Amino acid sequence: MAARVVVIGLASDFGCQVQMTNIEDDLLDVLGTIDLVYWQLAASGHMPEEYDVAIVEGAVTTDAHVETLKRVRETASVVIALGACAATGGIPALGATGDLEAHYGCVYGQDAAQVACGRITPMAIDSVIGVDYVVPGCPIDTEEFLVVLSRALLGLKSRVPAEPMCAICKTKENVCFFERGELCLGVITRTGCGARCITLGRPCTGCRGVAPEANLDSAIALLAEKGITAERLFERARLYNTLEEALDR
Ligand code: SF4
Ligand code: SF4
Repeated sequence: MAARVVVIGLASDFGCQVQMTNIEDDLLDVLGTIDLVYWQLAASGHMPEEYDVAIVEGAVTTDAHVETLKRVRETASVVIALGACAATGGIPALGATGDLEAHYGCVYGQDAAQVACGRITPMAIDSVIGVDYVVPGCPIDTEEFLVVLSRALLGLKSRVPAEPMCAICKTKENVCFFERGELCLGVITRTGCGARCITLGRPCTGCRGVAPEANLDSAIALLAEKGITAERLFERARLYNTLEEALDR
């Protein structure tokens, strides 16, 4: 029997679910190997009671999200965190700094109390439940998503790159942004996207999360040589990595 798969979204702009539709040529192949019983972006019905694989996009920002995740974990044998919001808290986690009530007041004015009802400090989904596989990035890379989904369906171990971006960036023959005195977060960011932004001419903004093998002290020393302060590094890195403890310095 094909694995029954659900795709659900918590706090996000659903961009990674949209990105799934960009699988294009491979989408029909993928759909042929699974039983896609619910896709929140495309479905008008309710979540089924039973399924095998849950693909979860978005950060946790409400009590309802917590309850949803607990039910998902009780039901699914495999949980996949889809995209930066689910994996690291992503952009929604910016709300975790400062006064959450004040943030809502700033955006929603006199309706803030009503909108904020049931809201909690944003967090990644692995703060609530165990996660089996992760597809990092904002948005996700479709090829990586297919690889991760395939590994999940085959029962293979999770394999998320741990090293930072620079080595793969060099193989693309990119001129390092540091040579121009510009900050690029590839120096501390988890590789796996093929140094996409840098190759397109833009510095990395760290959407795949801080690489476990990143050498922060070395990065800070390198930046200092180029006239870039550690504060700038941390400030920019927090865009996608507010909750990253390695940046708490
Ligand atoms: S810092 Fe950025 S531009 Fe420089 S090598 Fe690393 S990933 Fe490439
Ligand atoms: S280069 Fe950096 S910002 Fe761009 S997709 Fe890769 S990790 Fe994300």
